[in-house]
Amino acid sequence: MKSFNLRQLKLRSGEEYRDEIELELEPFELGGERYLPVPGTVPAELEITKAATGTVFRLGFTARLHGPCYRCLDDAVLELPIAAREYQATNPDGSDELRTPYLHDDNLDLAGWARDAVALALPDKILCRPDCAGLCPVCGKDLNKEPHAHEEQQADSRWAALEELREQL
Ligand SMILES: [Zn+2]
Ligand SMILES: [Zn+2]
Repeated sequence: MKSFNLRQLKLRSGEEYRDEIELELEPFELGGERYLPVPGTVPAELEITKAATGTVFRLGFTARLHGPCYRCLDDAVLELPIAAREYQATNPDGSDELRTPYLHDDNLDLAGWARDAVALALPDKILCRPDCAGLCPVCGKDLNKEPHAHEEQQADSRWAALEELREQL
């Protein structure tokens, strides 16, 4: 399910609608990398509560994302529990705060809402594991599989240059 039509509901003030739906998730990009929801369709809890002043929408689901680790580029899996909430006033009076951007002509855009909710819940960096050692900055090898260190040749040559300078002074 990508969208939900409210017209069929005919909720009256004080009434609540609750349903288990099959929500379709879209792949999206973060930092130029593509992340894929697996599975692409997840069970979600949709809750719509109508009051005299407005309607509250709640969407709950868990997204599992597959994509490259930010540090080592290996496959990373991220599980994100999502609990999103939107509000639409009965009379928004032109105020954007009282209006959900996902409601168009009684049609609730579940796919767009879910995508934005996942984006908001994302960490700054997606890692294969919290202590991922990443790639070696010198040779590019995976430090998780081959932990190693290099002789600090660069630093040494810099010191040598400094010594030379001192001798010239
Ligand atoms: Zn990693
Ligand atoms: Zn190295």
